[in-house]
Amino acid sequence: GDGAPKYRRVMLKVSGEALAGARGFGMAPEVLELIAGEIKAAHARGVQVCVVVGGGNYFRGASTWDGIERATADYVGMLATVMNALCLQAALEKMGVPTRVQSAIEMKEVAEPYIRRRAIRQLETGHVVIFGAGTGNPYFTTDTAAALRAAEMNAEVFLKATKVDGIYDCDPVKHPEAKRYERLSYRRVAFEGLEVMDETAITLCKENNIPVIVFNALAPGNILRAAMGEEVGTVVAD
Ligand code: UDP
Repeated sequence: GDGAPKYRRVMLKVSGEALAGARGFGMAPEVLELIAGEIKAAHARGVQVCVVVGGGNYFRGASTWDGIERATADYVGMLATVMNALCLQAALEKMGVPTRVQSAIEMKEVAEPYIRRRAIRQLETGHVVIFGAGTGNPYFTTDTAAALRAAEMNAEVFLKATKVDGIYDCDPVKHPEAKRYERLSYRRVAFEGLEVMDETAITLCKENNIPVIVFNALAPGNILRAAMGEEVGTVVAD
């Protein structure tokens, strides 16, 4: 629709898996362009957008080989998210959207360090702010980073852009009769093992009263619809 946006500020979490598109690994330029275009449209409607990018399209700390310590693998995973952050920034800037990247691991040649008040200021002055390097700590996920930054930025909603259309009662790929939930409580997501996001992330959202909307990033128009507050995917709230 053409109505006013429901949200003033949103946290968009883009998984690495979504960025990989149909290839399943690395970055699909057409997906990057699609996502950047949606962010641009939401931004043009006056929604303040901050973004956390995943890194699973390159590296996941928990699923590597023996012989690399978990913490080390997690640092590699966090570096992978910075690659995605820089590519998303490039795609947005090409479309004329002013963008900043802030990294939770300091690397001042490629990104600003994360400074909470500066990020808020950047959002207020019309920049899209992309947070790289997750939380900066091993043993966490980018979903948790997105929940944490959402709380710190006072975002009104956590938009979880994934490869699936929402949360189902069973795997819709294996079971065509699977049913999609329209709404679920935080509690059910955390305790029924629905594999939407890890418990740390869902707990942070619950404690800070931030609703989570899980939806398909790859369907054109979805990110914009979600950012405007139109119905899409599954809503997780109290
Ligand atoms: N990671 C981490 N701490 C964080 C965020 C991410 O150690 O705060 C590492 C972890 O190894 C993770 C990888 O970075 O597997 C990539 O992030 P994630 O798996 O969350 O990406 P996504 O599934 O969203 O693509």
